[in-house]
Amino acid sequence: MSDILSRLRAIPGLAVVTDTGAMAPHLVDWRKRHYGAALALVFPTDTTSVAAVMQACYETETRVFPQGGNTSVCGGSVPDESGRGIILNLGRMNVIRKLDAEDDSIIVEAGCILQNVQEAAASIERLFPMSLGAEGSCQIGGNIATNAGGTGVLRYGNMRDLVLGLEVVLADGTIWDGLRTLRKNNSGYDLRNLFIGSEGTLGVVTAAALRLFPRPPHFLTAMLAVQGTDAMLALARQLRAAFPGEVSALEIMSHSQMTIVLRHVPGAKLALPDNADWYLLIEISGTTAPEILEERLTTALGHAFGTGTILDAVLASNERQRAELWALRHHVTEGNVKEGMGLTHDIAVPLAQIGPFIAAAQAWLARELPQARPVVVGHLGDGNLHYIAMLSHDDWEKVADKPGLTAHLNHALYDIADDMGGTFSAEHGIGSIHIADMNRYKTTHELNLMRGLKAFLDPKGLLNPGRVLP
Ligand SMILES: Cc1cc2nc3c(=O)[nH]c(=O)nc-3n(C[C@H](O)[C@H](O)[C@H](O)COP(=O)(O)OP(=O)(O)OC[C@H]3O[C@@H](n4cnc5c(N)ncnc54)[C@H](O)[C@@H]3O)c2cc1C
Repeated sequence: MSDILSRLRAIPGLAVVTDTGAMAPHLVDWRKRHYGAALALVFPTDTTSVAAVMQACYETETRVFPQGGNTSVCGGSVPDESGRGIILNLGRMNVIRKLDAEDDSIIVEAGCILQNVQEAAASIERLFPMSLGAEGSCQIGGNIATNAGGTGVLRYGNMRDLVLGLEVVLADGTIWDGLRTLRKNNSGYDLRNLFIGSEGTLGVVTAAALRLFPRPPHFLTAMLAVQGTDAMLALARQLRAAFPGEVSALEIMSHSQMTIVLRHVPGAKLALPDNADWYLLIEISGTTAPEILEERLTTALGHAFGTGTILDAVLASNERQRAELWALRHHVTEGNVKEGMGLTHDIAVPLAQIGPFIAAAQAWLARELPQARPVVVGHLGDGNLHYIAMLSHDDWEKVADKPGLTAHLNHALYDIADDMGGTFSAEHGIGSIHIADMNRYKTTHELNLMRGLKAFLDPKGLLNPGRVLP
């Protein structure tokens, strides 16, 4: 132990923290559901010191827990309880190395906050389309490690689609420089894609080349209050067909979800009836003038208004109103934490199965756990729902110690998704909480292939042990 600490302290420019109080915020996740322990917390400022840290840990067989903004929702961002590893926090590696309008690309260090990358792109009239509720604190390295999704996936893809190249430090300290900005490169196996979504178990991302897009000059953002699940799904299909290639977000919130946000999030307000089954947030963007977009949207919605499917709609007429509508969507997690104990299921199913999934999950919950309220929020356009069984803190106290209750609930909902050709983890990753689910939903063959890759890249099993693989 003293060996690794003295080696870390000898690395030039590396901040090494061992004081328990100073480490405390890094030993627990933001929802305070997962706690860990560590020998030290280190903050490198460049790739060379990350490599030196990794080499020292490899030679002393010390576990390494990479950490970004610590916004993970699946227990992936805090160390295990052994206290035998170190936290490698990338937050001080936050330089934008290159911003290139001609190449439509940006090269950033892993510790850059997502929002800062969006703003850097905007400063050259470009768009970096990754957007999610934690964008003010999550880091690009964490987004890459979890292959984050968010609200822009429908049009621009998830993180995997936005990464052109990577710089990664391997378990033994070797630096792989794959920081190219090519759109096409079929020269052998795509190493970059191995690391994206590997949640810090195969290597430490230190920098990334990211894809930028032309910034659409016009946006039309609207929130619709809709009655009936089937009608809401039909409306969403109809809107996508009416604006081919122009819909940049299609998000839903159930009535229960909207009520929670309005109750708990300071400043949240909604100029729509508060009794709709669903609230559909749509954003359309492109070169078409806003008046024309508005006219086309009104025409597209005409029939749904006529049949009573839509109770009412609000259209943002300026940037402030647009931000207010988005704030309702982006603050759901904050509201849910205040409301009670939300057991969240980040499932995805084929688009045609969303209605059947909601119906089957609702029926199961009403039968097996009637105290729980179904709360649904999701990226409708991607078939990705956060299906939450919400319990008041009092009800949670009463059921929390029922043996296996949470696993029983999780498996029931995941089984429904799985039977429909879906997944138990659409965008949040595996972290530490889904390890048993990997055994249940992945084939032995898939797990063996993954274990083979892990053994090759991390032969001593030091990188983020206890995450992703059973
Ligand atoms: C309010 C809120 C809303 C969210 N909304 C979404 C959403 O819409 N879509 C979505 O996909 N996710 C969402 N998330 C979860 C999401 O995974 C994270 O917000 C984000 O992608 C993680 O980034 P981070 O920097 O905080 O990483 P952390 O939480 O610190 O780490 C996450 C994982 O990545 C690893 N890691 C971190 N940095 C590196 C690195 N440089 N190299 C290797 N491994 C690393 C960690 O070891 C850990 O396994 C949300 C979270 C919150 C709190």
